[in-house]
Amino acid sequence: MARLTDYNRKRNFGVTSEPPGRIAKAVGKARRFVIQRHDATRLHYDLRLELDGVYKSWAVTKVPSLDPATKRLAVEVEDHPIDYGTFEGTIPEGEYGGGTVQLWDRGKWLPQSATPEKDLAKGNFKFVMDGERMKGGWALIRLRDRDEGRKRNPRHNWLLIKETDDYARPGDPEALASETTSVKTGRTLDQIAGGSHKVWHSNRAAKGDATAKSPAKRKASAKSARATPSSVKSKAKKKLR
Ligand code: MN
Repeated sequence: MARLTDYNRKRNFGVTSEPPGRIAKAVGKARRFVIQRHDATRLHYDLRLELDGVYKSWAVTKVPSLDPATKRLAVEVEDHPIDYGTFEGTIPEGEYGGGTVQLWDRGKWLPQSATPEKDLAKGNFKFVMDGERMKGGWALIRLRDRDEGRKRNPRHNWLLIKETDDYARPGDPEALASETTSVKTGRTLDQIAGGSHKVWHSNRAAKGDATAKSPAKRKASAKSARATPSSVKSKAKKKLR
C-alpha cells in the first residue's frame, strides 16, 4: 500500500468523489494509460501510465505536442490507483486538486525495452502509445533535480517529447490543442463542470460498499470502456439531452 500512501493522505474521501487508492493486479501484458485534462489552478494534462499495479503520473503543463522539436514540461506527481483512470468529474474547491477533470485520452502503451522500471529509474523512458489522440513513440526524459543534495523530497521534472515517426507533426506543436472534448462522454470541461451526473461512481465505495462490484460487473464495465469512439459519442449525446 506504500505506493499509494501519498495519494490517500492528500484526499478526504468523504468530500471528494475521486476513488480511494487501492493497488490493482496486473492485467496481462497490456498496460493502460489515460490522460486527464485537469482544469485546476492552472489547466494541465495528467499523464498516467500503468506500471506495477498503479498509474505512474506526471502533470504535463501544456497540451502534449506532436512536434518532436517541442518539449513539454512534465512534473512527476504521486502514483495514482488504476481505478482513477475512469474518473471524470469535479473535485470540490479547497480539496487537493480541486477543479474539473476530463478524460482526454485513453488506450494502451508499450515499453520500448523489457525493463521499463529501470528506464524510469534512470530517467530515460521511451514508450509507444496507442490511444485515441496520443499515438506512436514518446519519450519522458528526467531533468536534473534543482533540489539535488538537499534533504527535502524534490519534485522531479521531466520532458515529454514526441519521437519522430508517422504520427509526428513537425512544425505543428499545437496540433492537439483543438481536441477539447472527453473521449469518454464527448463533453467539454464546462459541460462536465455543470453536469449533474458524475461519471465516477465512487459514492458507492464511500458508503462502504467498495467490494460489492462482482467480477461479472467488472467485465461488463471494462467492455463498455472499450466501446468505439462513435458509440461513446452517441451515448454522450443522449446523456446531454
Ligand atoms: Mn492534476
